[in-house]
Amino acid sequence: MATDANCLFCKIVTGEIPGDVVRSDDRLVAFRDIAPKAPLHVLIAPRDHQPNAAASAAADPTIVGELVAAAAGIAQQEGYEAYNLLFNTGAEAGQTIFHTHLHLLAGGITALPV
Ligand code: 5GP
Ligand code: ZN
Repeated sequence: MATDANCLFCKIVTGEIPGDVVRSDDRLVAFRDIAPKAPLHVLIAPRDHQPNAAASAAADPTIVGELVAAAAGIAQQEGYEAYNLLFNTGAEAGQTIFHTHLHLLAGGITALPV
């Protein structure tokens, strides 16, 4: 399991920095975005540090599907049937945290999370 001592989301995943966690298991941690762009805005991050979704998929072929499945469960748990999922990949596409995370947004997006 890769980790990066300088990575904010590694610190949230390990609990070194607090996060508003809605789901956690041995593979991933889901926590509410600190600056939500929709009534429900959760970030779902693998515990394994990889810089983006493509790198996670290459390192572990099942993890991206697990993030999507977790998103479906969280949306249902939060009472939303419809939702949007987004991976920002690359700084020019608005990625600011280089630890893979899936944005789960529901209830009406107010701004793109980039
Ligand atoms: P990105 O643009 O990299 O896809 O998304 C990073 C997201 O992380 C942004 O939506 C931003 O609001 C969120 N974020 C940045 N710092 C923190 C933090 O310390 N805690 C939480 N929960 N979210 C954060
Ligand atoms: Zn990390």
